[in-house]
Amino acid sequence: MDLSISDLENYFISIGEKKFKAIQVFEWLYIHKERDITNFTNLKKELRDKLNENFNLDFISIKRKEEGHLVKKYLFELKDNNYVEAVLMEHDYGLSVCVSSQVGCNMGCKFCESGRLKKVRNLETHEMVQQIILIEEDIGKKIQSVVIMGIGEPFDNYDNVINFIKVINHAKGLSIGARHITVSTCGLVPKINEFSNLDLQVNLALSLHAPNDEIRNRIMPVNKAYNIGEVMKAIKAYISKTNRRVTIEYVMLNMVNDSVDNAKELANLLRGMNVYVNLIPYNETNNLDFKKSERIKEFKDTLLNCGINVTVRREFGGNISAACGQLRSKEV
Ligand code: SAH
Repeated sequence: MDLSISDLENYFISIGEKKFKAIQVFEWLYIHKERDITNFTNLKKELRDKLNENFNLDFISIKRKEEGHLVKKYLFELKDNNYVEAVLMEHDYGLSVCVSSQVGCNMGCKFCESGRLKKVRNLETHEMVQQIILIEEDIGKKIQSVVIMGIGEPFDNYDNVINFIKVINHAKGLSIGARHITVSTCGLVPKINEFSNLDLQVNLALSLHAPNDEIRNRIMPVNKAYNIGEVMKAIKAYISKTNRRVTIEYVMLNMVNDSVDNAKELANLLRGMNVYVNLIPYNETNNLDFKKSERIKEFKDTLLNCGINVTVRREFGGNISAACGQLRSKEV
């Protein structure tokens, strides 16, 4: 599950087998969800033995679940006893899962619970794929869309995340449509540029969260490495290369970035770009001082009046601790 179809084809070619075996293996893994290579019965016995020697099909496991209204949070235990979480959400357009990409995160956003725990390591491709497989098995239904917005900065684990996207998107993989996959980044410019050159039809979201460098520097240390000017330049290049609309995420923090002036400044920054703004009501956490904005409607109306497309992210959580990263931090 760490291998894309082309990786697996190359493996089979390298051992003198036909490359279509890769498709057969994908079908076992992702369609039949078979966990024992010995049961891959359309492969000859010697080949199954060889696969058993060269690969293992170890799975991460569900350690805990919490259920709320239209939402279920999963805490996963990895083989090395680290923890990550994923969230299942029921939308009117189908089921979506928010997956984690790293154990901890080094980006240090001041308002983020997950970021309080420094990065321990990147997730391997199979550890991301298995979050989805285990959730599908748990609920007995297929997932329609995936957002890479859980714990971690996906572009700080770029290669595995791209591989993950290829595996879940493949028709013989989990078959999740590219347009139903969204990767969210805090703005790692070189990786946005690299991503622009891939011909993947997946969605890109940028966590902007501030209309100017002064505010962004205060809440997102990554802005000192790649400031708003540099990030917006990369996003513009991405849009012109791919012709795809980008989501601008903006977490609404009370008295930090939520004034009408901030909204006007944001509108000026985004004017004429093929983007829409997704305002995120802040999930308050016990450990951080930020408060949820009370001015979301005003902010939204100001953007609309300036001709900017904007939506407010639906709040999930109900009676379970809603903030990203909280299940894991409780466990740790
Ligand atoms: N590292 C990636 C993806 C992770 S988080 C990124 O930065 O985009 C997904 C989104 O949730 C980000 O926009 C992040 O800034 C935001 N977020 C983090 N903590 C939050 C909280 N407590 N309430 C609401 N949104 C939060």
